[in-house]
Amino acid sequence: MRILVLSDIHSNYTALETVLKDAGAVDAIWCLGDLVGYGPDPNLVVETIRQQPSLLCLKGNHDAAVSSEMGLDTFNGDARISLLWQRRMLTAENLEFLRPLPSLLKLEKVTLSHGSPRDPLWEYILNTFTARISFEFFETPLCFVGHSHIQSAYLQDPNTHSITPVILRPGQAQSLREGRWILNPGSVGQPRDRDPRAAYALFDPEALTWEPRRVAYDVAEVQERIRKLGLPIKHALRLAEGW
Ligand code: ZN
Repeated sequence: MRILVLSDIHSNYTALETVLKDAGAVDAIWCLGDLVGYGPDPNLVVETIRQQPSLLCLKGNHDAAVSSEMGLDTFNGDARISLLWQRRMLTAENLEFLRPLPSLLKLEKVTLSHGSPRDPLWEYILNTFTARISFEFFETPLCFVGHSHIQSAYLQDPNTHSITPVILRPGQAQSLREGRWILNPGSVGQPRDRDPRAAYALFDPEALTWEPRRVAYDVAEVQERIRKLGLPIKHALRLAEGW
């Protein structure tokens, strides 16, 4: 069984389309949120995700911001400019899809959260310190998160309960049978680990494996559309650098 786990698409349809093609046939898609924000294609991305069969979809902080009356003060200037533009551009149907989405879901073996299980909309798991706290906020053996835009893995030792960051190589499946794990598939539409390729993961709930993946997409084409729309140039430049 193959489940495509993806997150932080951020209105980058070109990256999303490339990931869907690269993943091939899957049995389900689990999207960990932030469909919108930053990029040029908010409607196309929400429509594409909405149409996926066997979809579980979470709401990220950007999705919450565009689909509610939430003030945008917590976002930096450029992120806020994009969010205001997207609030105007998104169709009523797409906003209605985003609004009721949960930001945390508990399945039998996996907890899904956009940020962290302690603070699903806002907290970043970027280091062992935050990972250690996060392990106390879910009961399942596995927790999948997004939000940091960094493909990463943290393992809690079954005996000592110590937490170790684990470096997983793209394209290599990691067994999840030992210990408890927090896993981040990385970001489809705006990676921030200095690798501009779109990031995602394949999860096999029967074999209990996790395979992080990277795939190159046409970054220049997305940059060009961001420029033409007059959206902040920073959001175009960072795509080529992967930050
Ligand atoms: Zn994000």
